[in-house]
Amino acid sequence: MRPAILNPLFAEVAALKGVGSAQVRQLARLKISRALDLAFHLPTMVIDRLAVDRVDESLVGRPIVVPLTPARHDRGGPRSPLRVAAVDRGGQWVDLTFFGQTANWAQTKLPIGVEKRVIGKLDRYGQKLQIAHPEVLAMDGPTPPPLREPVYPLTEGITNRRMSQLVAEALGRVPALAEWIEPSVIERQGWAPFADSLKAAHRMEGARNASLDRLAYDELLANQLALLLVRADTRARRGRALAGTGRLVQPLMASLPWALTNAQNRVIGEISGDMAQAQPMLRLLQGDVGSGKTLVGLIAMLTAVEAGTQAALLAPTEILARQHHATLTKLAAGLPVRIELLTGRDKGKAREALLADLAAGRIDILVGTHAIFQEAVEYHDLGLVVVDEQHRFGVAQRLLLANKARVPPHVLAMTATPIPRSLALTRFGEMDQSQIDERPPGRQPIETRVTARFEDVAAGLARHVEGGGQAYWVCPLVDGTEDEDEAAATTRAAFLKVRLGEGKVGLAHGKMKGPDKDAVMADFAAGRLAVLVATTVIEVGVDVPNATLMIIEAAERFGLAQLHQLRGRVGRGSGHSVCLLLRGEELSETARSRLKLMRETNDGFRIAEEDLRLRGAGEILGTRQSGEEAFHFADPERVQTYVTMARDDARLLLDRDGGLDGARGQAARVLLYLFERDAGVALLRSG
Ligand code: ADP
Ligand code: MG
Repeated sequence: MRPAILNPLFAEVAALKGVGSAQVRQLARLKISRALDLAFHLPTMVIDRLAVDRVDESLVGRPIVVPLTPARHDRGGPRSPLRVAAVDRGGQWVDLTFFGQTANWAQTKLPIGVEKRVIGKLDRYGQKLQIAHPEVLAMDGPTPPPLREPVYPLTEGITNRRMSQLVAEALGRVPALAEWIEPSVIERQGWAPFADSLKAAHRMEGARNASLDRLAYDELLANQLALLLVRADTRARRGRALAGTGRLVQPLMASLPWALTNAQNRVIGEISGDMAQAQPMLRLLQGDVGSGKTLVGLIAMLTAVEAGTQAALLAPTEILARQHHATLTKLAAGLPVRIELLTGRDKGKAREALLADLAAGRIDILVGTHAIFQEAVEYHDLGLVVVDEQHRFGVAQRLLLANKARVPPHVLAMTATPIPRSLALTRFGEMDQSQIDERPPGRQPIETRVTARFEDVAAGLARHVEGGGQAYWVCPLVDGTEDEDEAAATTRAAFLKVRLGEGKVGLAHGKMKGPDKDAVMADFAAGRLAVLVATTVIEVGVDVPNATLMIIEAAERFGLAQLHQLRGRVGRGSGHSVCLLLRGEELSETARSRLKLMRETNDGFRIAEEDLRLRGAGEILGTRQSGEEAFHFADPERVQTYVTMARDDARLLLDRDGGLDGARGQAARVLLYLFERDAGVALLRSG
């Protein structure tokens, strides 16, 4: 249960002073529903006002608070603003301008001859000094705003003043909490306690950076604790040692037309070493697109089958699941293994028969989407789970899957998204890491070009298709504007059909029905379509070696890691492949240099580092899809600075400081709840 000391913070915003249902809805737009969310809602800048008696040129551009006396109302025309000429205590004139206000309003609010306290930014307008839509208060009226005022991200209906009030009330609910950070770390960094740091972060004063550092560290510590708890929990369970006999793997290797790369051999050694231990494997396999992960996954699965158990391969989408199933079936043709596919789409008798066979152990390898871990799906004896494109799944989902078997299975996760090390620790910190850092020989590098000339690209495509080539044409899909983007793909497909011939062009996007989408992909894979127009549904895994031209439209709208993934769809055969990045006419400097980087390098890790710097972690990892919250405080730079420290700290706590039962451990439990590290919290509950 959540420690009672945190209850005031987890109260709904409706419990705060003056918050009615309308305000609840407004706050919800900012994803604020509890006092905690307000306390974590940080200002982005601060207004620093100067209190003065007189204005002059030197103050232009500054926010000021100044007593002024209205001398004349100038109602203006229907289109021009209301203008009030006012004078300061030294006789200097200042125009106050208001949009959408009437002369009547001015007479009540700014009666002539009555000095008012005027708050706003001093500007120059022609020869005159002016303040546009200032705030006007009575000299002896309500307390003026503070000279330093933090500015919060707002939404319609909530003023900054109101937000400040709400935040202040929420901050009043932050209790003094026992320290969870290692004392030596606190001392070295000179950090203030959590509650003080949070308040200081809102004040935007000199020490704000140190406060933010501490908060980021807290967040990373919670993250690392949760991951280490998951790891400890998984590894504490008794799994089963699975040793291969070579019965299946040897004939597979003999049937391959090429040899494994050194990197493939190395990671296979790491994986089989793990599987030969009773402690369940928890390993992440990273390898750039085309590095040959699928084969490594298959060898691991065959090893599990040789040892008398079943294996499951989990893919993030149906398309990928189907493709994996087809690839594995082809690779394992002639071997005595049964490989089946289960997706959410399978219904009725066929599904029941399949489930019965699975439960009876008549299926060796099951491939599918998350459907393969539903309640109704029972394995005879699941020894290994392989998760493809791991970054699409969150820690909570990974936990779920580990609970599926009676004896905890070994888990091998694979990802083609090269993840900078610091980020890998925050996301996959509970796993050991393996890397395939070498591509199969004989691959030609993909030639990447950037162009704004649509006509040239379309003509180039036509020539490519006439020559018998196949190509992808990708249109952007950005969250929230899906309709528009889907239309973009649809329109583009229609255009290309006219240009290249109706039967030559297929369309695949996320809103199509699964079977329709699959049919199009299958037609493309079989060479019946020359061009596949698609949204990012083809981003991961799709493998059509004969497609050697990739066109990405509005390339500047994609993340770099995403572009790299998309580009990885070509260059999969021995033919020379080209990737054309079709950009918009007007590009920012950053957009230009991003596309330039794509042209210059094929190195996924370099691209990932750069993407992390430019766009933040959520984008790279597609965490929005997996539903896992990004960090509140730990920006990429702070992740880099502090994650290793936080990991050491967390490990020290769990290994040496008496785990979560000692004094610091109790404090750390509060930390886990405070930052809602669900995975870790779930374990606290059950253990
Ligand atoms: P990834 O999943 O890492 O993107 P794949 O497993 O799809 O890469 O492999 C890409 C292609 O390379 C596949 O067609 C696969 O059969 C082939 N391949 C894998 N390993 C080798 C190897 N050692 N030598 C040559 N080709 C290989
Ligand atoms: Mg793959």
